[in-house]
Amino acid sequence: MADEREIGELTIGAMTLRRIVESEVPLLSPFEIFPDCEPGHLAANDPWLAPRFMDRTAQLLVIAIQSFLIRRGGLTILVDTCSGNDKDRKRPFFDHRDWPWLARLRAAGVAPEQVDIVLCSHLHVDHVGWNTRLENGRWVPTFPNARYLISRREWEYWKGSTAPNGVVRTGDYIADSVLPVFASGQAELVDDDHAFGSDLWLETTPGHTPGHLALHLADSRRQIILSGDLMHHPLQLRYPDWSTRFCADPGRARATRRDFLARHADTDHVIFPAHFPSPTGGFVERRGDHYGFRFDGETHGCTGDDR
Ligand SMILES: [Zn+2]
Repeated sequence: MADEREIGELTIGAMTLRRIVESEVPLLSPFEIFPDCEPGHLAANDPWLAPRFMDRTAQLLVIAIQSFLIRRGGLTILVDTCSGNDKDRKRPFFDHRDWPWLARLRAAGVAPEQVDIVLCSHLHVDHVGWNTRLENGRWVPTFPNARYLISRREWEYWKGSTAPNGVVRTGDYIADSVLPVFASGQAELVDDDHAFGSDLWLETTPGHTPGHLALHLADSRRQIILSGDLMHHPLQLRYPDWSTRFCADPGRARATRRDFLARHADTDHVIFPAHFPSPTGGFVERRGDHYGFRFDGETHGCTGDDR
């Protein structure tokens, strides 16, 4: 039987968790994503940043774009759906792509028809793409039998007039990747405290977007938390006040991240920040006025200043 780590599947209680990666490459300029980042910050952290977390030559941070597959007693749940194929996008990296993501999902033993629940941590372009696929010129739900769970608070924001005009910056992903699941009757709005059971529940983690959600998986001994975009890169453990240019409310995002890191530091909770490179999951460790991150299965923290 294959080693758990080899096939990338974790077991917790009656559930299994594995990642379905769409891409993991140097993608974003640290100066683009983090307004507070200056060249000195990169120089100070260069020994641990490159090459694992940053391409030094291109000056691009390595960003994973991935989904999380949870199987729980016959229920198949997909958390976030990456950026998708054939989408009309402003950023070339996302534009009219042909990712083998569905093949990777099938290789994990799941056909689209078998997905029961799609949970959107939030409604950003790199988290909703595979909600739909192109069929005869129309965007149709990729998962015909799934309920698509979306935070009520999140949807109120994106359907309202105060949301940023994503069309200019990204392409109209709400129209091609979110509205079709409402049109098909598959969208379901959930409240912040929604729980699937005592072993699987949502936590509201607002700031990056107003209705941003984290998902807790637990058994009697352990806890795993899919923390979505509460942090995007290990640099935010070194500099926990750094919010991103893409945060709807950077101040709120900072407060939520600070609170989350303080609560989980030096515990055995395994945190999976959506965009952290493989193996993604790990532990938050306190380092004086900031934090470090140690990937699960590794003996040393990745962020350089081990105690
Ligand atoms: Zn994201």
